[in-house]
Amino acid sequence: MDRRAFLEIVAAAAAIPSFAGQASAQPAAGEWGSPTFDLHCHMRPEAARTIAHLDGAGIAKANLLTRGTVLENVKAHDAAAPKRFTWFHSYDVTKADAEQVLTQAIKDGAQGFGEMKYHAAADGPEYARAFALAADLKVPILIHFQEVDHTPNEGTWATGYAKTFADVLKKYPKTTFIGHADAFWANVSADYRNQEAYPSGPIVKGGVTDKWLSDFPNLFGDMSANSGNNAMSRDDAFTRDFLQRHQEKLIFGSDCACADGHGGGISQGNNPAASRMVGKCVARETLTLLKKSASPEVFQKIVWGNAHRLLKIPA
Ligand SMILES: [Zn+2]
Ligand SMILES: [Zn+2]
Repeated sequence: MDRRAFLEIVAAAAAIPSFAGQASAQPAAGEWGSPTFDLHCHMRPEAARTIAHLDGAGIAKANLLTRGTVLENVKAHDAAAPKRFTWFHSYDVTKADAEQVLTQAIKDGAQGFGEMKYHAAADGPEYARAFALAADLKVPILIHFQEVDHTPNEGTWATGYAKTFADVLKKYPKTTFIGHADAFWANVSADYRNQEAYPSGPIVKGGVTDKWLSDFPNLFGDMSANSGNNAMSRDDAFTRDFLQRHQEKLIFGSDCACADGHGGGISQGNNPAASRMVGKCVARETLTLLKKSASPEVFQKIVWGNAHRLLKIPA
């Protein structure tokens, strides 16, 4: 065997992860053709259930979104599947001790804040404290924006996004914002006026979310839930162009509550407006949509690379 043939064999062997080293090595590409990272995975009460969703949907790693007393469960997840999870923590921004609780979570090992879903104005003083803290601690903050109730008297969340959030993005240039949910995604289209949770039909170019992803280096998009899937299902030509243009700024997430990664159980919390996802796994639906709408390179960034860059963790 000459030296070159020997080196080729060594290189090929190195590319095959051993089972023993799999947790820390690059996971296999699997059924999606790229390893995948779910930025928006609500932590289940038991690690086995969270892992069942990941395995069922063919997802390698996930960022757990948590709130309340969670540290023991986060540790249990890490013990059950070492190196497979990161986590964010959330706390009500209207409470006086919000900064204290959020700071403690970062000290305990959380990589960011989220999902932040509270009844306060997006540009109000309550959220402002969390935005400033995220900049100080150099962690991203993931926000749920919603202007239309899903059920009677649900109330709205981080309101005023389309009208006010450009000012917030300007005022906090050192804060890394991750936008999510109905108002964030409906505003890819310039004709959105809070008329419904999930608008349909072709996209009108010039929506504020599309514009701000271009204009502000500190804004990223979490593609999870029916909101992200719906927006990217409206207009094939727009979607292909949008994914290409914002390929450094978009991150795959599921927000799927289904039991098995195949649509068993309830995927979108019985939200009547999201009935298009009944019996489906949102993770699978969105991965399928992204795969057919993006080049393999762009797909890999959105479902894997960008999340690692944003969370400052090795891929
Ligand atoms: Zn949400
Ligand atoms: Zn699912």
